[in-house]
Amino acid sequence: MSTLLSVAQMIPCTEAEGPGKRFALWVQGCPLRCAGCCNLEMLPFEGGQNYTVEAICALLAKSYQENGLEGLTLLGGEPTSQARGLSELARFAQGLGLDVLLFSGYTHNDLLRRGDPDIQALLAETDILVDGPFDREQPETTRRFIGSTNQRLEYLSSKAKRGDHRWNERNTLEIRLEHLEGSLSLTVNGFPSAGSMGLWKRLPLL
Ligand code: SF4
Repeated sequence: MSTLLSVAQMIPCTEAEGPGKRFALWVQGCPLRCAGCCNLEMLPFEGGQNYTVEAICALLAKSYQENGLEGLTLLGGEPTSQARGLSELARFAQGLGLDVLLFSGYTHNDLLRRGDPDIQALLAETDILVDGPFDREQPETTRRFIGSTNQRLEYLSSKAKRGDHRWNERNTLEIRLEHLEGSLSLTVNGFPSAGSMGLWKRLPLL
């Protein structure tokens, strides 16, 4: 549990990154370069904030108690680039009774072909996988939380609720005012429109 994760951002309770109230974690770093990626600041592997898995588990447990979370969402960046730490975090979330939703820019088959035991461990703790690179030429206009039509929604466990109507509702965007180290910022996360990919942005105000 002392594995380090390089984190771009966390939101302890959001309703814009998967069905229901969820803890969302964006990892720092992605080896892919999808045209139209909205989270360019999360692509370099440098610049994230390091947390132990243990510290994130404590934040997750706190939010679970305070907010009655339904799940954990892992996105980025590319989560499978930090599969070992995320598999430990996902296992902890499963122990709380949460479901785990993973967004990867790789297809499920690509991930399986790699034969990486850490990725396999992460997939074993994943209930729902949204896979494949974002393609702005194929905008998704029907399925919520999904950027492009080539990306597949896969149920990897019996715990995942199939046919959940919330995947067909309208996308949402959340806006927060944050006071961080003496300065005020506006943060935005979610899906700004049908056919866009999910984004996270911070805009310094004062
Ligand atoms: S859309 Fe996702 S997978 Fe593609 S470059 Fe951006 S962060 Fe990486």
